[in-house]
Amino acid sequence: MSMQVSKRLAAGASMPAPGGDVLTDTQEAIHAALSRLGYSDEVYELLKEPIRVLTVRIPVRMDSGEVQVFTGYRAQHNDAIGPTKGGIRFHPNVTLDEVKALSIWMTIKCGIFNLPYGGAKGGIVCDPRTMSIGEQERLARGYVRAVSQIVGPTKDIPAPDVYTNPQIMAWMYDEYSRIRESDSPNFITGKPLVLGGSRGRDKATALGVVIAIREAAATRNQKVEDLRVLVQGFGNVGSNVALLLHEMGAKVVGISDAGGGLYDPKGLNIPDLIDKKDSFGMVTSNFRNVMKNEEFLVQPCDVLVPAALENQITADNADRVQASIVVEAANGPTTPAADEILAKKNVLVVPDVVANAGGVTVSYFEWVQNNQGWYWTEEEVNQRLEKMMVESIHNILRTAKRYQVSTRLAAYMVGIRPYAEAMRWRGWI
Ligand code: GLU
Repeated sequence: MSMQVSKRLAAGASMPAPGGDVLTDTQEAIHAALSRLGYSDEVYELLKEPIRVLTVRIPVRMDSGEVQVFTGYRAQHNDAIGPTKGGIRFHPNVTLDEVKALSIWMTIKCGIFNLPYGGAKGGIVCDPRTMSIGEQERLARGYVRAVSQIVGPTKDIPAPDVYTNPQIMAWMYDEYSRIRESDSPNFITGKPLVLGGSRGRDKATALGVVIAIREAAATRNQKVEDLRVLVQGFGNVGSNVALLLHEMGAKVVGISDAGGGLYDPKGLNIPDLIDKKDSFGMVTSNFRNVMKNEEFLVQPCDVLVPAALENQITADNADRVQASIVVEAANGPTTPAADEILAKKNVLVVPDVVANAGGVTVSYFEWVQNNQGWYWTEEEVNQRLEKMMVESIHNILRTAKRYQVSTRLAAYMVGIRPYAEAMRWRGWI
């Protein structure tokens, strides 16, 4: 990466970068954060890529009797502070670069929230929407067998991500325990409650996002119940964000899924939409008045919550976004070029690495509970999560002010520093 690019990022200068290449964009952000903190290029060399990446080929006997071979990845970004941690996604568009970027984002989240982990991520190129339950189970178990050498409760702890869920975590836990011939609930988080899952984990990411919305709105003297919110994506995170906001009296004016969006300026009936959605977050197929996803993001609202995939708010639509606050529930929804446009419009962005870190935070609680065999109430989980969310959000807002940088650069600075320090203490750099 050129020094010029990182200087531009560090200074928040005006020329928009093309963006959209998630790994390059992430590396530029890491470089900008490290140089702003005064670390050398040696530190960047070690942090710009995961320390370990495994590509696997997984044969799966399909229901038809034929064998189909799937490609999977596991990227472990940095283990200077502890084992690595991060979800596994099942999606047809998974790429190695995407998984690498996602693993780096996990490091930043763990750093901001002081979790004793580094980042990791896994992905399998597949479309679970077209697979039977049995095929998904065989794929999940095959993935665990393929990566079993490099994962484990003190090495790398997986969790759910896009299109994976507690059932898939349960199969993976079972498979890993069989391989190790030892019951290992602390190998994976996001499990069903009866198998050692944590109370509050299913809604943790969404609760964290809602706390982020509340705190961001408060800095602009707005209350949650006065907000009109647009939620892009209706999977676990999007639907729970919409539900929590609805329960708190906010107006959820729009929701969307892969098929398009629904918008009603009077507010949508979220519980009814949740009743109608399928397990992949599809709901708009039940309606006729569905708008295209491109139009959806630019509808009138106060807060926009992208809760789907990467690269949704781009140079093509950022200038038409009407929200004054963007809270990123998805990983990587905003390109750097869009970031600069939003900054010019004085839009407050709560970046993904803070806003959606409630998920990994309660995953950490789950791992702690598994290690101790001592389980917390939902109230204890939520109270601890709330405290950590509020502290982390304000830490980022303060850092952005103090260094006169964007909230995203501030988040990267806070999140990467502990790893640079830990690597120095260990004598790696
Ligand atoms: N997949 C989630 C994320 O992107 C959660 C990871 C975890 O719980 O380890 O943050």
